[in-house]
Amino acid sequence: MKHHDLKTFDIATKVIHVGGEPDKETGAIMPPIFQTSTYVQSSPGKHKGYEYTRSHNPTRTRLEKNLAALEGAKYALAMSSGMSVATLMVSALGEGATIICGDDVYGGTYRLFTTILNKTYKFVFVDTTDPKKVEHALKTHDASLLWLETPTNPLLKITDIKKTVALAKKYKCMTMVDNTFMSPIFQNPLDLGADFVMHSMTKYINGHSDVVGGCLMTNQKAWYEKVWYLQNSIGPSQSPFDSWLVLRGIKTLAIRMREHERNAKVIAKYLESHKQVESVVYPGLKSHPQHSIAKKQMKGFGGMITFYLKGGVKESKKFLSTVKLFALAESLGGVESLIEHPGIMTHASIPKKVREEIGIHDNLIRLSVGIEHIDDLIADLDKAFKAIK
Ligand SMILES: *Cc1c(COP(=O)(O)O)cnc(C)c1O
Repeated sequence: MKHHDLKTFDIATKVIHVGGEPDKETGAIMPPIFQTSTYVQSSPGKHKGYEYTRSHNPTRTRLEKNLAALEGAKYALAMSSGMSVATLMVSALGEGATIICGDDVYGGTYRLFTTILNKTYKFVFVDTTDPKKVEHALKTHDASLLWLETPTNPLLKITDIKKTVALAKKYKCMTMVDNTFMSPIFQNPLDLGADFVMHSMTKYINGHSDVVGGCLMTNQKAWYEKVWYLQNSIGPSQSPFDSWLVLRGIKTLAIRMREHERNAKVIAKYLESHKQVESVVYPGLKSHPQHSIAKKQMKGFGGMITFYLKGGVKESKKFLSTVKLFALAESLGGVESLIEHPGIMTHASIPKKVREEIGIHDNLIRLSVGIEHIDDLIADLDKAFKAIK
């Protein structure tokens, strides 16, 4: 299959075939894991494009081709974590740069920006769901990058990507979208005008909870080269084995996302009509405050649900320790269902007062809905509701 053929295929075909050409030497249908640090040169400086695995590795190259195709990008970089991508992207802006960032971004991003990178760069946090606040920040600060995350975690707030990117462009500011929660199947920020898109591959892209990884996609050669230069100099390039695992997991991304969403829709409705639930946050529900933006910019609503139990910390703890199929764990996006308590677990580092202000109360529970049979998942939740009655 020629590369130009692949471009015309649907994303469900791309996940399987881009970067998945049979091995030229042996015909092996699955790509080899090039578990090597270095490459033999025929004479000094004469090589086949590969010199050292921190710089390039053929298994990683295959993954990067695949990732680029999924976001409709020219370039992609695969790294050892989502946080490496964030670090290198900000570093590429140059010392002293200002970054306007959503005030409800992933906790690790917030920690990185406010305790480490804030020594060298300036961060301004705003509610990106409000275009007026974004414009005010753009007007007041000479920012190089606007950092969006949509939907956010755990409250699933949605920012209008197209509208916000256009605002940033007006002030000559570039935009990055952390697209982890949607995966390239349900949202494509580059098509909506963003300059960069990143994912924690740890989540849906790999989908099997056995790899930590991150990726960056862009159409801008100069920025791709800057970030690659940093990756090569600093060293968080994705390992050959982990690249291979992601290439293996990504083949089912389209079908997995479909199932995550199918289950999540049923569970969201089940929760919304449950007497022991105060309220449910799911972008696919009409009750979601930004449901119309979600419908416009997302191709699906994803597998993440947040809900408020009727009760307090005692009931929440009991609920979380009664479910069996929903595993009590941080992280998300794997085939298995997970449940967690943001106040005690993923968002514990946020001071209680701030947590309460943004809506992370003690009765808030987050679900990463997996692709098990829906009846088993509902039965598991039923049992937990009965236990706290
Ligand atoms: C997990 C996550 C990250 C961080 O990625 P790692 O692979 O854990 O470094 C960034 N953004 C979002 C939205 C995440 O869920």
